[in-house]
Amino acid sequence: MSGIPSPAVAGSVDLSAVRRWLVDRRADLLAEIAEYVSIETPSNSKPHLDQGLDWLTGRLTAVLGPPAASERFAGGEHGDTLVADFPGTGTRRLLVLCHYDTVWDAGTLDDWPFAVTDGIARGPGVFDMKTGLVQALWAVRALDAAGLPRPPMRIVLNGDEELGSVSSRPFLEAASAGVTAALVLEPGVDGALKTARKGIGFFRVDVTGVEAHAGLDPEKGVSAIDELARIVLALRALQDLGRGTSVNVGTIAGGTRNNVIAGHAHATIDVRVTDPAEADRVDAALAALTPTDRRLGITVGGGWNRPPMPRTPGIAAMVELARALAGGLGEELGERAVGGGSDANFLAALGVPLLDGLGAVGAGAHARDEHVDIDATVARTALVAALIHAFALPEEGS
Ligand SMILES: [Zn+2]
Repeated sequence: MSGIPSPAVAGSVDLSAVRRWLVDRRADLLAEIAEYVSIETPSNSKPHLDQGLDWLTGRLTAVLGPPAASERFAGGEHGDTLVADFPGTGTRRLLVLCHYDTVWDAGTLDDWPFAVTDGIARGPGVFDMKTGLVQALWAVRALDAAGLPRPPMRIVLNGDEELGSVSSRPFLEAASAGVTAALVLEPGVDGALKTARKGIGFFRVDVTGVEAHAGLDPEKGVSAIDELARIVLALRALQDLGRGTSVNVGTIAGGTRNNVIAGHAHATIDVRVTDPAEADRVDAALAALTPTDRRLGITVGGGWNRPPMPRTPGIAAMVELARALAGGLGEELGERAVGGGSDANFLAALGVPLLDGLGAVGAGAHARDEHVDIDATVARTALVAALIHAFALPEEGS
């Protein structure tokens, strides 16, 4: 895979001192996680997001030095996207991607402040994914402290990932041009990398019928609810778990009164696919929905939010590299295919070799028991440092 460091060469570099340095600074790393978690950055509050990105921008410059180029793309009502290039050794440019928004509303900290008990850190956004950004900062600090080179790095921070990255997607995609590979510091799953993700579609089906008095004029009405009921069953039949396709009709509503034939009904549908061909099959089925009575109307809204992320050759090559480096640090590294999507889906679809789920070790994303295992996360930070360093090694054959 072009440009990806050889696992054998990279794995032969002894980075145990980097790991020890990080373990010795566990308390400082934790203090920075606490500081960042204590700055609330809900996806739905632009003032909070602005404040968070200002803090992050200052911290990046403090740690990585002045950027060679930096641009902040306006997100409108959503968080802005920061794309900052930091100079480094060699010609391989490494993209590091973090979202800074969280699913937690402003004020969540009031009754759920950052706290640490028994080696576990808790707080809104600590796992998804504030710790990941702090890991990147400490990975760089560790390399600099050891006098080890780091490659040119492009740091991309977006603030609407939890809303589907609707406004940041074009900036992320543009920022991926010319990079050798990407590290996505989303949390892992049970400490494992996420090497395949499903594609996700959110759809809505609206049906219109003809209202009539249910008792006086039953023959004059055409029920939108009856039609939607048929559609729901047809959509459910599209599910094919064996091929990795799930179809869930999550909400349904319609009608006005018990004694009125329903003039309107709608359903919302969550579709997840592993195979891009399955997305085409679902699209075709949605497009083929036709009313069973000419007085009925059917409209389909919504669409695909993220394309599937299969385990591409680029991802496989990055996993091989990460495994070699983890082995050198005395760690075992697992991998999983997951049903959720991330911005890695967008980058992988463009052919960028990447690792996703490289961030915090813990569990509970989007839930009140969101938490991070501090020791395991410090150890994982050493792996992040090793990966960054690998891209600054001389290219084979040059
Ligand atoms: Zn996330």
